[in-house]
Amino acid sequence: MISYAQARSIVAEQLGKLQAAPTAETVALSEAHGRVLARDITADRDYPPFDRSARDGYAVRAAEAVAGATLLCVGEIKAGDVPPAFSGDGTCLQIMTGAAVPPGADAVVMIEYTQRNGNAVQFSRTTEISQNVISQACEAKHGQIVLRAGSRMGYAEIAQAAQVGAAQLTCARPPRVAILSTGDEIVPYAQTPGPFQIRNSNAVSLAAQVRAAAGTPVLLGHAVDREAELQEKISLGLREDILLLSGGVSMGKYDLVESVLREMGAKFFFDAVAIRPGKPAVFAMCQGKPVFGLPGNPVSTMVTFELFVAPAIDLLSGAPMRPLPFVEVILGEDLHEKRGMTHFLPAHVEWPANAVGKVRALRWQGSGDIGAMVQANCFLVVAPELEHVPAGTRMPIILRRDVV
Ligand code: AMP
Ligand code: MG
Repeated sequence: MISYAQARSIVAEQLGKLQAAPTAETVALSEAHGRVLARDITADRDYPPFDRSARDGYAVRAAEAVAGATLLCVGEIKAGDVPPAFSGDGTCLQIMTGAAVPPGADAVVMIEYTQRNGNAVQFSRTTEISQNVISQACEAKHGQIVLRAGSRMGYAEIAQAAQVGAAQLTCARPPRVAILSTGDEIVPYAQTPGPFQIRNSNAVSLAAQVRAAAGTPVLLGHAVDREAELQEKISLGLREDILLLSGGVSMGKYDLVESVLREMGAKFFFDAVAIRPGKPAVFAMCQGKPVFGLPGNPVSTMVTFELFVAPAIDLLSGAPMRPLPFVEVILGEDLHEKRGMTHFLPAHVEWPANAVGKVRALRWQGSGDIGAMVQANCFLVVAPELEHVPAGTRMPIILRRDVV
């Protein structure tokens, strides 16, 4: 059986083969959070656009502002002012943070290192050339690329785009991810289930995961475990960029997803991964579209989405595949797991003040236990070769990105 890392590589390889660049669309900067750029953004001028003072203080010639020297303050420069002419010659100019350092001055002395008496300013330290001056274009030159296609627009990227006046961005259209739940026992969550029926939680939790991964969920509703209905609804799903199915991929008599997909021409790249929960996860290409069959038990559905579907959404957005963001923490309690599978256990991590996180696996009743996931703020990752792990061992976790 392949490992989760091999399965992720297979997904990356197959999605890489799809080639077609994502459709681009124009997005207002104010709406662009989380979107992926489809076109580079360049600097519309130098940054900073002028030699900029990094401090409140005095613009000087460094050679004149030596320790103990006194210079005459002959004016001030506020942020936004056109800087006046400056010749030095025993003078200085008061200057504010963000103001333009006048030509002729070669340093700014922090106000904290001066003493002022009327217009006489005394300097208490040696002054270095360029001190507290951020020189024109040292952050970016006019025309230089400041954000590359494929960048994800986080808050810093939004600030960068705003700085260079990119009010409208060319972004990739988020991949549309069809979600189809399956199973005879499943009823819509707003409905009262019969005594042996189950409300559909996967369709909405998957939609939330799709949104968190910056895709657009397309809810296809539900299919019962009948070939004809599955085929019909899968066909609808294959119109979108990615199709997700929940349930119907295990070994039961009514687990029909794989056989229906096969009839529809699917080529399977894996149908089991050495992970727990989530072992029966399926990945196929069908009629040119990536299809994921995720096991129906809710915790399995959640784990397999994060491991295999999230990277597919990244790649279809024209963004690099985000790595699994492992964080190393200390195991708080002894752990015993079966060998042979990588476990992704619902777990809770705490950070004692300024210390390394301490994690404990939660008690759970297996992969149907949504309540355990609600207590969890991370998955504890237990490598397949581990069996008895003593408290105090350093272990990797993956944070639940939506709640931490
Ligand atoms: P399956 O993978 O089809 O064998 O489903 C395994 C178990 O997961 C089922 O017995 C249900 O308890 C549960 N399950 C399947 N689909 C859903 C769903 N859409 N929402 C909540 N639970 C589900
Ligand atoms: Mg089922």
